[in-house]
Amino acid sequence: MQRTIELADFELPRGTISIEQLMAMPWETWNHLRNQINRRRQKEPDRPLARCRLCKGPVFIRSRFTAEGHLPLYVHYPESPTDCPWYQGTNLTPDNARAAQYQGHQERALHRWMCDTIAEMLRRDPRCTALTVDTYRRPKIEIRGRYPDVYAMLEGLAEFAIEVQLSKPFAPEIAARHLHYEAEGVALIWVFRELEDELPQGFHDVITLQRGNAFLFDDVALAASIERGTLMLSALLENDRGGYLKPRLVTLDDLDRSTGKAIFLKDRRSEKLEEYCRAGRVKWWEAFAAAPPAKFSYPFSQTDFIPAWDSIKTFVPELRPWKRECWSERSYRGDRHFAELAAILFSIARTATTGNERVYVTRYKGDGCLLAMLNAKLSSQAFMPYADLIATMLAATPVRDRLNKPSLRQVIDDARQNAAQIGPGHPVWMGVTRLFPEIFDGVRRAELEDLNRLPAWAGGTASATPDRDPAPPADS
Ligand SMILES: [Zn+2]
Repeated sequence: MQRTIELADFELPRGTISIEQLMAMPWETWNHLRNQINRRRQKEPDRPLARCRLCKGPVFIRSRFTAEGHLPLYVHYPESPTDCPWYQGTNLTPDNARAAQYQGHQERALHRWMCDTIAEMLRRDPRCTALTVDTYRRPKIEIRGRYPDVYAMLEGLAEFAIEVQLSKPFAPEIAARHLHYEAEGVALIWVFRELEDELPQGFHDVITLQRGNAFLFDDVALAASIERGTLMLSALLENDRGGYLKPRLVTLDDLDRSTGKAIFLKDRRSEKLEEYCRAGRVKWWEAFAAAPPAKFSYPFSQTDFIPAWDSIKTFVPELRPWKRECWSERSYRGDRHFAELAAILFSIARTATTGNERVYVTRYKGDGCLLAMLNAKLSSQAFMPYADLIATMLAATPVRDRLNKPSLRQVIDDARQNAAQIGPGHPVWMGVTRLFPEIFDGVRRAELEDLNRLPAWAGGTASATPDRDPAPPADS
């Protein structure tokens, strides 16, 4: 059994033709290919029409006569390197080391083919003023330069570094490249050939940095690139069920570079994160709109707060036993107590969002009402255990200046002295964390910050879409 050349890369637009594809072609079709190869060989021997994927040496099509008639076979021209693993005459050996080496050869060859083909597509773009493949780039800012797989300058668009990732996981290298190109002001994009079901972690790392976007240079993208005369990629965006939406074709122009970090078509990760945050609050905003303190003396005993409590106890099941304990040991309604605490915190969030003071827990109104409300509530025995919690929230928001008001400082000091403070393991603290992950959930807060998506009301810089804002009650 002899080795055969499994893949031949033809000059575009023909592209790659595997031996299986070649053998499946009608006789007339591969005969035409064979003739075209031979013609090119005569006219321009230095520019072969087809090359071996592994060694890049020129190949031709030999016709073999078999019991099934004439069948085509790729054969290296004599000047191809004789150490090519697909060199005819080398017998297949089942030896593992050889097999692994052979795999490595194939992968390196595919990598090189992808880089060259991507570069060729970019070269066809009239805006392309600089283009290199696997070439050292002298850094502008960083000390050490890099060898991007493909580097392209598209006039009027951006500089791009395109890295082709096939199967090798290399987590530290992924991070290092991101940092490097961020500093250099070069847009970095990772391109895969395919998305397998069981992705190595390195792929997940890249997809995470690209905010839930994967880009493939597959056959569809290649065909589209040839058609459009510029590089096109198949973009796969994460869906909500751990899979991907239907791929769509994109050009580099379609991608979002505005963060100065990894580029993407649509930010799927931040959206999900923001949706998670909003989902914890939506029932509460509805309740505050329906039962404002201006309308009811005891708003938190209104039925409007039942869905709000139901939602938070579903998110944080630890609140159920806590509520029972409130009743059996301290004879108060935990759900109403939690709602009142939530109203204090929503008042802080609301005031921090709009800059206009508005409270959901007392009938105070206008300038100074937030401070007056906080002073009143924290002076009451029921809310003293939450001085740390409330101070934590205030400190994280643009209304942190209230913490410097002598009256509030005094009230907080007194509360800390007179009541044991609840901390992060407490069911109420957990509930509040689910209401305001932007502030109390360290992991999510940090991720939002990394993504430049921490909203201004939580101390960040992002002008994130505000939560559903309940209309002020008619009589306020
Ligand atoms: Zn070869």
